[in-house]
Amino acid sequence: MGLDMDLIVLMPFFNEEMQIPVTVERMIPLLDGLNLHYSLLMIDDGSSDGTWKAIEAAAREFPEKVRGISLSRNFGKEAAICAGLDTADADAVILMDGDLQHPPESIPEMLRLWREDGFEIVEGVKSSRGREGFFSKIQAKLFYGLFRRLSGYDLSDASDFKLLDRKVVAKWRMLSEHNTFFRGLSAWLGFKRTTFFFDVADRQTGKSRWKISGLIRLSVHAITSFSAIPLHLITLIGSVFLIGTLILVVQTLINYFSGEAASGFTTVIIVNLAVGASLMISLGLIGTYIALIFDEVKNRPRYIISEDTRSVRDLNIRPENATKGKES
Ligand code: UDP
Ligand code: MG
Repeated sequence: MGLDMDLIVLMPFFNEEMQIPVTVERMIPLLDGLNLHYSLLMIDDGSSDGTWKAIEAAAREFPEKVRGISLSRNFGKEAAICAGLDTADADAVILMDGDLQHPPESIPEMLRLWREDGFEIVEGVKSSRGREGFFSKIQAKLFYGLFRRLSGYDLSDASDFKLLDRKVVAKWRMLSEHNTFFRGLSAWLGFKRTTFFFDVADRQTGKSRWKISGLIRLSVHAITSFSAIPLHLITLIGSVFLIGTLILVVQTLINYFSGEAASGFTTVIIVNLAVGASLMISLGLIGTYIALIFDEVKNRPRYIISEDTRSVRDLNIRPENATKGKES
């Protein structure tokens, strides 16, 4: 691996002020040892604590090695990844969690698979999920099972720990959807890909930034943006009801002609409730897709960058760029 290659390691951070120094301290010596041009691209996803200050301090300490970008508010990890991939200009980009739950020790192996074996996407697969709660394990199983059935992509134990070749990053930028699901979309992109296994490390500071509501939102979004099968399920439910209807029509008519038509109120109530519930669920399902379309047609940017430690330094050299950061 020579100095002709450059690498960007991209990390999103949300409220991780304690973690930043730990991460920088661990990453810099490790990356220094690789003998290639690199920089650490740290995205502050609109944190409300001192994360941005910590990133700025790291960028001041290692001006050539650390670049920080701050989003104007918390846009979510997916958007932070997009901001990073749009900014990263390098032969390879490695995306990993800022909390170092993705072990940096895997980086040399990732680079080897890319450089020597010619793989364009190198993906980390969790060989163990680390210390994760029972419910989040169940939730993950459920989500990936559903995702595989509906979209045809098996992402079980997949992670966001990936190396992407420059080519892949360029194609990623051509994807126009505003709500992204990195894991799914990077599988969709294709390219020569391989996997490596890693053990999810424990967090050294803080705790998981995900709230259950955010995970549900991401799951629903991931499934609806990769599959229209739920919509077809509505037709299926309708068909099942149609069969039920035919049976009940025959029964009701027989009762009518044999003079027993007055009874059967229980049936009416049950059928009414069943039809009502399935109609509501179907409407909700269609609504979910409409919301997705609505979100897309509004065509808002995926994220807004409010600060960039590099352009701050550029500003000192080229005053004509002074308004650059404010345009976005
Ligand atoms: N993160 C982010 N924006 C968010 C939530 C999380 O940038 O809205 C970052 C977070 O700082 C961390 C990474 O994404 O570096 C993974 O998040 P977390 O550790 O909370 O998730 P988990 O490891 O539990 O999946
Ligand atoms: Mg984590």
